Amino acid sequence: MLRHVLILAVAIALAVPGVISVTSHALASPEPPPAAGALPSDPEGPPTIVPTASPSPGDVTPPVTTASGMGARWRNDTATVRFAATDDLSGVAATVYRVDGGVWRIGDEVQVRAPKDHSNDGEHVVEFYSVDNSLNQEAAESVTVKIDTRPPHFAWKSVSPGILRRVAPVTCRFTIDERSGPVTLSYKVTDQYGYHAVSKSGLVRKAGAGSVQIAPRYKNRKGFVPGVYRIQFTLRDEAGNQTVSNRRSFRNYRVVSGGVWRRVRGAGKVVALTFDDGNNAAWASILSTLKRYKAHATFFPLGPYVASSPSLARRTMKEGHACGVHGWTHSQMTRQSPSQVQSEWLRAAAAWWKATGRSPVPYCRPPYGDMNGSTTAASAAAGFYRIILWDVDPQDWAQPGAGVIASRVLSNVHPGAIVCMHLTPQTAQALPTILRGLRSRGYKAVSLPEMFHAAGMR
Ligand SMILES: [Zn+2]
Repeated sequence: MLRHVLILAVAIALAVPGVISVTSHALASPEPPPAAGALPSDPEGPPTIVPTASPSPGDVTPPVTTASGMGARWRNDTATVRFAATDDLSGVAATVYRVDGGVWRIGDEVQVRAPKDHSNDGEHVVEFYSVDNSLNQEAAESVTVKIDTRPPHFAWKSVSPGILRRVAPVTCRFTIDERSGPVTLSYKVTDQYGYHAVSKSGLVRKAGAGSVQIAPRYKNRKGFVPGVYRIQFTLRDEAGNQTVSNRRSFRNYRVVSGGVWRRVRGAGKVVALTFDDGNNAAWASILSTLKRYKAHATFFPLGPYVASSPSLARRTMKEGHACGVHGWTHSQMTRQSPSQVQSEWLRAAAAWWKATGRSPVPYCRPPYGDMNGSTTAASAAAGFYRIILWDVDPQDWAQPGAGVIASRVLSNVHPGAIVCMHLTPQTAQALPTILRGLRSRGYKAVSLPEMFHAAGMR
């Protein structure tokens, strides 16, 4: 049979000079090679084609084969390339293909796989041709299958300015590494408590160094309120592989007007427990109790406690609580100059920033609740535009006993109450009773940002 095929092939080759090289290539016998230059890279050579029907006399036209299924784009799934061959006169005997110069095989389709270990990533060349029953061979054609299972790589370079003093663009610089070309970016900016500030999608950036400018405005075009904001990018390449960047922060310390809060109306049945001053054992115990009761609170330790207990500060933020400043020296703010007021706040804020990468802006609590218009203005000018006083005061600093502290809180609580307490052992001891009592009365203990958010404020 092989002999018959070869004879026929040679006969056709001789009769049609134009197909000589193609024919000899297609039917190259394993040994001895007819001519070194005509050998394919596959040492076995293409398979021998056995006609499936009788040759049609006078058929000198090779079949026509088309391939489909590879897609034009990079992909991260298996591609099934299908070959469709037609031959009018004698019919198609077989289609032959190979991938990346490998072994020639007979078949109507081939799968190019996309294993998740990236081992088959890259551009794959699929060569194919068909032979008809008269052993006319088509010139080989090729298509490319582009496999990319690796997500884009994103590396932050900078966020500038790191501290914003007015509503101005924030420029994010980064490097993108991606083999398949441009990537589609989106970003999400949240405040440090995770509340949405602004987002955008559908940005396109080339691989290499790039940048995106973020306008620090909310959807209603108002500028971001002071605070710490976090930026996160999501990148998607042409194949659909996705990368989520880690977060980078910038601080917004622009000046807005200040306000004094003793309670928050319109927040529903929530209560803001707040803790001032400091005592590390009490602080740790209060955190554990809050965790046990799935409650959140706001902490106003004096700056030195934050500076000397960074791990407690970090734990506080990690467990979902909020922080504020109560100053560094616990002095009466109305006796201080505006710049002294600001330095009390900013020194304590720097301790929070150093320990946790979070900012107590916009919450400040003047010691003794001692404040006036001038201290409010000075505080707001440093970003602390929410002066947090209280309207439930169990006077726990006087150490009246845990039971008294708990009953004073529970008998005065109301929706939107701000409860002023202290980081003291008696308060820590009273807290489980307070939290159980709040729960049984249908209240939820929340942090100040959660309470403002519940009332529809940023
Ligand atoms: Zn105090």
